[in-house]
Amino acid sequence: MLPQVIIIGRPNVGKSTLFNRLVGKKLALVDDQPGVTRDRRFGEAHLLGLDFTIVDTAGWEDEDPSSLPGRMRAQTEVSVQGADVALFVFDARAGLTPLDEEIARWLREQELPVIVVGNKAEGRAAESGLLEAFSLGLGDPIAFSAEHGQGLGDLFEALLPHLDDKQPDPEAEAEESEEDYDPKAVLKLAIVGRPNAGKSTLINALLKEDRLLTGPEAGITRDSISIDWEWTDPKTAETRPVRLIDTAGMRKKAQVVEKLEKLSVADARRAVDFSEVVVLLLDATRGLEHQDLKIASMVLEEGRALIIAINKWDVAEDASGLFNGIRGALDEGLAQVRGVPLVAVSARTGKALDTLLQVAFDIRDAWSKRVPTAALNRWFDDALGANPPPAPGGKRIKLRYITQAKTRPPGFVLFGTRLDMLPESYRRYLINGIRRELGFDAVPIRLTLRSPK
Ligand code: GDP
Ligand code: GDP
Repeated sequence: MLPQVIIIGRPNVGKSTLFNRLVGKKLALVDDQPGVTRDRRFGEAHLLGLDFTIVDTAGWEDEDPSSLPGRMRAQTEVSVQGADVALFVFDARAGLTPLDEEIARWLREQELPVIVVGNKAEGRAAESGLLEAFSLGLGDPIAFSAEHGQGLGDLFEALLPHLDDKQPDPEAEAEESEEDYDPKAVLKLAIVGRPNAGKSTLINALLKEDRLLTGPEAGITRDSISIDWEWTDPKTAETRPVRLIDTAGMRKKAQVVEKLEKLSVADARRAVDFSEVVVLLLDATRGLEHQDLKIASMVLEEGRALIIAINKWDVAEDASGLFNGIRGALDEGLAQVRGVPLVAVSARTGKALDTLLQVAFDIRDAWSKRVPTAALNRWFDDALGANPPPAPGGKRIKLRYITQAKTRPPGFVLFGTRLDMLPESYRRYLINGIRRELGFDAVPIRLTLRSPK
């Protein structure tokens, strides 16, 4: 059972628009005519990682705005009983009306936490309306715009203390998010790298047939950009679908107009649009070159899971020295992610190609992972306890909550005050903690800081 949030307010303040915004679908009717929403509507809402049921009430209609029609009122009273929090919505442009004040008076008598939402607050016209709302005695109003999606972060912050311990338990939630992310779905895998690194040979070896042309001359490949294929996992004998995104095939046409050096970056850029996981193929006889680091950085900046494969391992000299040298150069050269998976392969002999696929499926799992808000904030409290944020100029930076707003790639939002003062080193500390302790391994992570105004 999800916690319940009920929307209350007089007609036309934007309740349905708010409901739609939180549910993400056009479930409720929106109309300029007061009183369009006649029944209670229930929707499943998702706000920056918080899950709850949202109820749009019939409201406090209508003909005579100074009286509360009994029928509607009775219905709202019923709704309030099952709710964990009420959002009291008023029109911040219009300011408070007598009916708003009457609803507020009634709400103060209920045993229900109330969050005051000053809607239509985009732009300037809402300032005085918001000030008036302080007099309601229901706490600070949130400046909100249901139509423009403004104030969602503040709404999240106001809701979190009431909903956090009522979030679905982590195991149930994990099951749910497995529905969103199907680990059995086709793996979109791109293979990128400098000309002659062996991309076409690798794809041929994976497909175990000669469908691509290869040769010492760079760029002799076909045009198609993706090949659907099934990999058989030798450990389980299961087959798993893979879509290979073949950038070598994209190269040929562009070659005429662009220089090759530039080209492999451009190829890779196009490939990431289509892929979940990107394999950057290096040539063991050439080592890690500047261009390779550029491609690797770009892949991570685009938020894709990255694997580095050193190809032509069959002809590598001083194999362990080469491997360690590349490992060191990667950790130094890729500021975004330490410990990107590094696999030595040979497209020619077939060495470690199954390992490469196994690593690709594993890293996609990490890249697709969602951590429930409650578990995330338990980790967060520990991380702050172990290493409190600094206090520049004697004033402590307050870090309050964190939530995972996004997956694939994972994106987190951190709420607090004075966040503009937060040193990069502390941000790294948090990102590395998320990665190490919450199972995100070597995938790129985004952390957005948000302070309420
Ligand atoms: P309800 O009767 O309280 O459910 O209100 P509705 O959601 O039907 O909205 C009433 C009117 O206000 C509609 O014309 C909406 O487009 C408009 N509205 C809703 N939210 C906003 C907002 O954030 N800003 C502005 N300017 N108009 C809004
Ligand atoms: P692409 O330009 O990245 O598609 O590279 P190709 O697949 O066309 O390969 C370039 C050259 O490297 C060809 O001569 C391949 O035979 C050779 N090559 C590719 N993989 C290997 C490998 O694992 N070992 C060795 N020794 N040569 C390889």
